[in-house]
Amino acid sequence: MTAEPTRVLVLNSGSSSVKYQLLDMVENRRLAVGLVERIGEETSRLVHTPLATGGERRVHEGPMADHDAALKAVAAELAADGLGLDSPRLAAIGHRVVHGGLRFTEPTVIDEAVLAEIERLVPVAPLHNPANLTGIRTARALRPDLPQIAVFDTAFHTTMPEHAARYAIDVATADAHRIRRYGFHGTSHAYVSRRTARLLGKDPSEVNVIVLHLGNGASASAVAGGRCVDTSMGLTPLEGLVMGTRSGDIDPAVTFHLKRVAGMSADEIDELLNKKSGLVGLCGDNDMREIRRRIDEGDEAAALAFDIYIHRLKKYLGAYTAVLGRVDAVAFTAGVGENAAPVRAAAMAGLEGLGMAVDADRNAVRSDAPRLISPDGSPVAVAVVPTDEELEIAQQTYALVTA
Ligand code: AMP
Repeated sequence: MTAEPTRVLVLNSGSSSVKYQLLDMVENRRLAVGLVERIGEETSRLVHTPLATGGERRVHEGPMADHDAALKAVAAELAADGLGLDSPRLAAIGHRVVHGGLRFTEPTVIDEAVLAEIERLVPVAPLHNPANLTGIRTARALRPDLPQIAVFDTAFHTTMPEHAARYAIDVATADAHRIRRYGFHGTSHAYVSRRTARLLGKDPSEVNVIVLHLGNGASASAVAGGRCVDTSMGLTPLEGLVMGTRSGDIDPAVTFHLKRVAGMSADEIDELLNKKSGLVGLCGDNDMREIRRRIDEGDEAAALAFDIYIHRLKKYLGAYTAVLGRVDAVAFTAGVGENAAPVRAAAMAGLEGLGMAVDADRNAVRSDAPRLISPDGSPVAVAVVPTDEELEIAQQTYALVTA
């Protein structure tokens, strides 16, 4: 075994949670994974799985006041497995940062100037960037000597041309408030589009791929020769596809109407569109398993929610086919995309004219492996490609510190 620093800790800090993975980039394996939830509450909970030792999953419940307490608890768990943060084997910590604006197009070594810039972007990512910053500051305090790398959700989309990134609104107003389409889930779109090219035995530069990241949040992207040319999320993750709790595309005038006619405040409208809309708003459930079960029982609200979800997906498939001109592959990923065969079948139904189809038997196979589900000889390859944002963050982090 090498004693070189070959390990990367990946941290994904949310407002009340921290997800983490420790990976060895040379041995090519995960050493530990875990999650702290409900930080700041009495009922905080840490779930740690020590993959390296093959030990049992450990669960700790009890109050953790803040991210500092949570990360110290994570560090103690890792130390108990001989994987402490003080280990010389640790090469870097890679942080997921949601919003990198236009400035951060690549993974970036974090220093005070970078922290200040992430802070400056808080007005365009009020829910996410503050939590990401807290995680970074806490981790830096624990290991001030260690390189800490920010990997941005928006970075992959910074290659979008201006005609895709700009809204058609007054330019001075847009520029004054940095209003444009940034896109999100970029780490997943980058990973899945490259993995799809590999599945086809091609270099990413040779293929055009439409990636459908369908999780609780959902987004589509059009990737031409490895570069993102359009994506469905915009200034915020609200734009685009129908999601678990978000509306996706609506006429912006709906918001004025809600204000003027329904008397709702900006915060109430924000909450309605982000938390009480999408599948949950349409039928009361945001879990696709539950929606399918209800449809099987003849539930009309669930059936309509499903149809609206699929209709929006088809519109984006058509739009991105036109944007790309030639599509080599469509890749389904994330919780719904990887697991919900009926969603994949319904999204592809009737798209033979675009060269897209799924083979029913292939679509029904359940597997963790990237796989093709289109019939042999289909003009467009349709694939299921499980996403792995933590691996992508770890790889980008390790590549930067070993460059
Ligand atoms: P994610 O945000 O990628 O973790 O995806 C979470 C969503 O995936 C859940 O809300 C479910 O709607 C969906 N999901 C997870 N497992 C399944 C499954 N076996 N069948 C259908 N949908 C699933």
